[in-house]
Amino acid sequence: MAVKDYSNGVAPLKVAIIGGGPGGLGAAIAFAKLPFVDWTLYEKKSEISETGGGISLQQHTWRLLEWNGAAKNIKPEDFFRSPEGLGGQQRRALLQAALLKEVDQSRVQVSKKLVQVEKLPSGKVEIKFEDGHTDQVDLLVGADGIRSFVRSFTFPEHKIKYNGQSAYRTIIHRPTAEAIEGIPQASTFWQNLGGLYVFTSPLGGDDFEVTARISRPSEGQDHVSWGRSFDFSTLAPEYDGFVEPVRKVVALAAAQGGTEEFALFSGPRLESVIALDSVALIGDASHPLSGAFGAGAGFALEDVYALVKTIEWAWKGGRGLPAALKLYDRIRSPHYKDLYGVLDWYAGIGKELAAEGLPVDEEIAQRVKRTTGKNGSWMYHYNVEEAVDEILRGLDGATTAE
Ligand SMILES: Cc1cc2nc3c(=O)[nH]c(=O)nc-3n(C[C@H](O)[C@H](O)[C@H](O)COP(=O)(O)OP(=O)(O)OC[C@H]3O[C@@H](n4cnc5c(N)ncnc54)[C@H](O)[C@@H]3O)c2cc1C
Repeated sequence: MAVKDYSNGVAPLKVAIIGGGPGGLGAAIAFAKLPFVDWTLYEKKSEISETGGGISLQQHTWRLLEWNGAAKNIKPEDFFRSPEGLGGQQRRALLQAALLKEVDQSRVQVSKKLVQVEKLPSGKVEIKFEDGHTDQVDLLVGADGIRSFVRSFTFPEHKIKYNGQSAYRTIIHRPTAEAIEGIPQASTFWQNLGGLYVFTSPLGGDDFEVTARISRPSEGQDHVSWGRSFDFSTLAPEYDGFVEPVRKVVALAAAQGGTEEFALFSGPRLESVIALDSVALIGDASHPLSGAFGAGAGFALEDVYALVKTIEWAWKGGRGLPAALKLYDRIRSPHYKDLYGVLDWYAGIGKELAAEGLPVDEEIAQRVKRTTGKNGSWMYHYNVEEAVDEILRGLDGATTAE
């Protein structure tokens, strides 16, 4: 780990990263490589951990894991890549572990729940934690997930809400799952009507993920918990309308137990992912999409790349933090606008199909057909490195020409 040397007389940029998910850990790795940054990561849990089955690592995610050095910590046998060579799948906990291995843990503080933020007249931001600990920083990075406290401070009018659907994730024994006739060795979405689907996928090693998503009424239920344990056998009959292999794999998951429930929350797009010339939102905090596109870890790492590169650019050119944050926002906000646009496009197709009143199988076939293609997959191939580097080169060129 590089030892930081601030002895040249210039005050370092003091950064607090809130949250130890993929976004916060990615930020910690990247900031550690900037010699002028003095950073600390604060996580509310008592350890850096992750709930929730598997996670897909799309092309863009994998590239950024190569960039930050965490990819080498993922053993090939702990990772499943389908024969068509599309993205791969692995246990979430292993992704967290691979990232954490690259983090200077002497700068990570756990059991630190952020409860108060204040912008001081000095320009610094004061942050206060539940245990009374306080810190003053130049830059506050909100990497605190979909229910971001930092976001609720910077954009108090922005609200997220339960979107009426919950996901149930279970990891079962891979050889047993794959022994069921008709269960492919590939990541597969088994679709039904009304948003009901089952996702099955090998994860690497002996792990196999079964995730079932279903609409659940909001009334009388507490939809705030994330990754709470759930008795999946109470819901298994809801999947009776699926083909036999799916019914069997659902029954296996229900019998095994260990299912976790995720109530899905989402909110409108933020107009901006920065605030007060000293706050940047990254990851789910910057775009409350509740797992849409199955690439949130990749989006978080893209945010990290854009943020550290714009800060490095501003620092080297003596341009100041506000200039860096404005540029970060200029790069990331349009990207999220485009992603929300894809969701509107999906919703439009859903409405069209509902109006057509097709038989079930035909409706599903049409939904798959109309949503397959570039419109729904460009985000996995988006190259944030090229996009950011090109903008910075352009700006440097403009400065030189002046
Ligand atoms: C059902 C489901 C399936 C998904 N599938 C995929 C997938 O296949 N692939 C993929 O890439 N993404 C997937 N996602 C999305 C992915 O989980 C997220 O996008 C990703 O975890 C975001 O990382 P993050 O670091 O922004 O936030 P998080 O992972 O949510 O991390 C936030 C961290 O901040 C901490 N924190 C929160 N509040 C505070 C506070 N006040 N003080 C201190 N610490 C705090 C939390 O404890 C947590 O550790 C899925 C999501 C869901 C719900």
